[in-house]
Amino acid sequence: MQTTRWRWLAVLALALGMLVAAGCGDDDEQAGSAATATTEARTFAAGTTMAKLQDEGEITIGVKFDVPPFGFKNPQSGEVEGFDVDLGKRIADALGVKPKFIEAVSDNRIPFLKDGTADLILSTMTITSERDKEIDFSEPYFVARGRVLVKDDSKIAGVDDLAGKKVCTALGSTYEETLKKQAPKAELRLVDSYSECLELIQNGAVDAISTDDVILTGMIIQDDSLKLVGEPLTTEPYGAGIKEGNDEFQTFVTDVVSEWKQDGGWEAAYQKWIGQFTDEEQDPPTMTLAEALKLN
Ligand code: GLU
Repeated sequence: MQTTRWRWLAVLALALGMLVAAGCGDDDEQAGSAATATTEARTFAAGTTMAKLQDEGEITIGVKFDVPPFGFKNPQSGEVEGFDVDLGKRIADALGVKPKFIEAVSDNRIPFLKDGTADLILSTMTITSERDKEIDFSEPYFVARGRVLVKDDSKIAGVDDLAGKKVCTALGSTYEETLKKQAPKAELRLVDSYSECLELIQNGAVDAISTDDVILTGMIIQDDSLKLVGEPLTTEPYGAGIKEGNDEFQTFVTDVVSEWKQDGGWEAAYQKWIGQFTDEEQDPPTMTLAEALKLN
């Protein structure tokens, strides 16, 4: 636990150092809203979820707390930050309300929407037809790929080598199914949060971790004795999760996501949280919700 925490601090120091070097250290706090400067709070008809949230002055958003670079609770500042968090701030800005970020791990994302604990989920959540039966999604705002992570000296070269191996992933994630299908003889270790998987591979209790590439890359940034192996297993389009049957709110969130992808906000967040670490360029996804639903 302690080791991981210190590693996060190191990552954070690195990230802050890079931002300062890039001459934008002072603007860091504003970075989420810099790209949203043009966003103005809109007016909504009484009775809509948007109007209710405006009355309350706050929107509760479930994000990951231990998944840099998407959702991460910075132990120094106590602030929650990352790509999903920037999108959450953008949606809150469009409503003119304060975002309140709460932790939503993989397995409680859908229950949190159903019981009203969260108004919105932005938690590295893949759009799937199974999940779509219980909740609604915005259009895709990011597309990840499923991968396998091992220690540098591991002989595992991909998903086909996982038979008889201990493999960690999160309870309630898409990888429960993926691994059952693609590595039926692997011994699955299902945990609540990805930081637990990281600790388990570091102390040798599991041989591999499987989940989205961006989550695994976040682990490699924390621990460079880990590496990705094999070909991508799956395509995982991320959507904002919304309580089922609230069409107006779904349209509103999708509109904000579309604007964010078109006006440079997405690129700024991508570069800040992902691009600068991976040196990879990426465009905002063009996949539609209907296409995403056909994939998984
Ligand atoms: N994107 C996958 C999912 O929604 C894996 C990541 C996660 O568990 O948050 O299940």
